[in-house]
Amino acid sequence: MSLTVTVLGATGSIGRSTADLLAQHDGRFRVGALVGGKDAAALAKLAREMRADFAALADESAGPALREALSGSGIACGAGEGAVLEAASREADIVVAAVSGAAGLKPTHAALRLGRTIALANKESLVCAGHAFMRDAARYGARLLPVDSEHNALAQALGDGRVSDVAKMTITASGGPFRTWTRERIQAASPAEAAAHPTWSMGMKINIDSASLMNKGLELIEAHHLFAIEAERLDVIVHPQSIVHGLVYWRDGAVTAGLAMPDMRVPIAHCLGLGDRLAIQRGRNLDLAAAGSLTFEPADEARFPCLAIARAALADGAAAPTVMNAANEIAVAAFIRGEIAFYGIADLVERACEHFAGTYRAAPADVDEALAIDAHVRAWSTEALPQMRAA
Ligand code: NDP
Ligand code: MG
Repeated sequence: MSLTVTVLGATGSIGRSTADLLAQHDGRFRVGALVGGKDAAALAKLAREMRADFAALADESAGPALREALSGSGIACGAGEGAVLEAASREADIVVAAVSGAAGLKPTHAALRLGRTIALANKESLVCAGHAFMRDAARYGARLLPVDSEHNALAQALGDGRVSDVAKMTITASGGPFRTWTRERIQAASPAEAAAHPTWSMGMKINIDSASLMNKGLELIEAHHLFAIEAERLDVIVHPQSIVHGLVYWRDGAVTAGLAMPDMRVPIAHCLGLGDRLAIQRGRNLDLAAAGSLTFEPADEARFPCLAIARAALADGAAAPTVMNAANEIAVAAFIRGEIAFYGIADLVERACEHFAGTYRAAPADVDEALAIDAHVRAWSTEALPQMRAA
């Protein structure tokens, strides 16, 4: 019996890596629902290739184009939030949650409420509503398997070990394209320069977050929730080769690390395998002799202030990560449009965190509350953007 896999965010970078693996293991898997944002042609092509049961787009206005592109295929489809939630709720053995940004919260949570096994790429679910997601995963019997490479490496390194035996967990950062740049050069960087990731191939938003190190900040918060480990036992180290992804330091001094080539298919395959190891065709095997040396250095929070902002948000324990994420999404989009300079991202996020400090006294109790905070902070951040232009 093949396993049914639903992919939320199917047309994105993680979605396509997932599609490649599913095609390589055709007999093992069949495709249930596929969800995209607004690209009807791309989603329809993928749905036909993968012989999906159902395809849904978030953008309601793209519904007619999707129907047209799927006509005669026998694949059911829909558009708008209801269709996306329907796709997320359909019967599936594994749901790959890879919508980008806070838009991923609702569909991911819809699958979680049904007790599904979720291969979680959408880190924003845990950043914006981590308490609610972890509580509800336990309540509804859902399994959360980490796709994010660092967390996947940590999960593999941890194995059956106890978090109470862990002295600390470390996630690595490539350092991004600006690792060796001066502050002045970073401030003048273009969106294309920020998106030119040295080791990973990813979506635009996460590329910019990797350049600012906000991605590592989001990942610290993600690790805190996934492994129920406090901020004091989590840290970040810069490792430009992106071969070691996560390290578990045990209290007896032993360290277990997770290594792999920087290819997201490796952690996705680990999740899809559900305990079995899936072979990856056209993958590059790790060759340490060819790599020559693995180097490590501390993260420079002076040039990469987003990391310190995220640490402070994590320490807040309330809604600061939700606020931070919303402001960051607005800031990154403005940077990509060329409206603000690179450090405008950190400035806007910091101002939002200061402005909303004390407004929300507890972590969001559920997804609706997280999304209400998200909407409020987005509106404020959008209004504050012109001040960033001057900065
Ligand atoms: P992409 O931007 O490449 O893809 C995003 C996907 O989400 C696309 O399929 C897009 O559809 C879809 N989408 C956008 N908006 C909506 C919406 N409102 N409702 C439903 N679907 C929507 O992102 P990535 O694949 O890079 O990242 C996805 C997630 O995985 C993010 O949370 C990211 O942080 C995380 N992640 C990514 C990694 C990577 O290597 N890329 C590594 C670790 C984590 P459309 O194409 O039509 O817009
Ligand atoms: Mg990662």
